Amino acid sequence: MARLCLIDGKEVDGGYRVMDDYVIRALRWIKGKTGTLKNNEIFICEEHYEDYLKKRKHYEKIMYYGAVFLALFFVLGIILPILSGNISRVLVLFATTILLVISFVILLVFGHVPKVEEKPTRAVKKASKSAAKKPKKRASKRAVKKKVRRGVKK
Ligand SMILES: [Zn+2]
Repeated sequence: MARLCLIDGKEVDGGYRVMDDYVIRALRWIKGKTGTLKNNEIFICEEHYEDYLKKRKHYEKIMYYGAVFLALFFVLGIILPILSGNISRVLVLFATTILLVISFVILLVFGHVPKVEEKPTRAVKKASKSAAKKPKKRASKRAVKKKVRRGVKK
């Protein structure tokens, strides 16, 4: 499994790990279905981190204003006409709202800038060292448990 930078797609040692969200899970599901899933870990390398933060802020703004706009449109464009009893107008507005929601979702998926973990993950070598230490700790815990069990049986 390779570690790739989200910004330029190059292989990196470490950086800010991209967190899973609904868009990433959806894309992974589609890739799994179409057999194009590569199972790489996606990072933001430290070189591109500032660039990433700007993009993420921009993305959050789009999500925020998009949601506010859709909520306003829903209230003004659908609930009010329903209350006034104008059915043909409601149908047109309903179709318009669905189109707006679809284009909003497309915008969110194609311009997707996922969240990353706050602390950078270091190079692979360090990570494998700490991983090698963990099983020993678990083994010693198991040994303690066995001793305890024996003690209980007596
Ligand atoms: Zn990079």
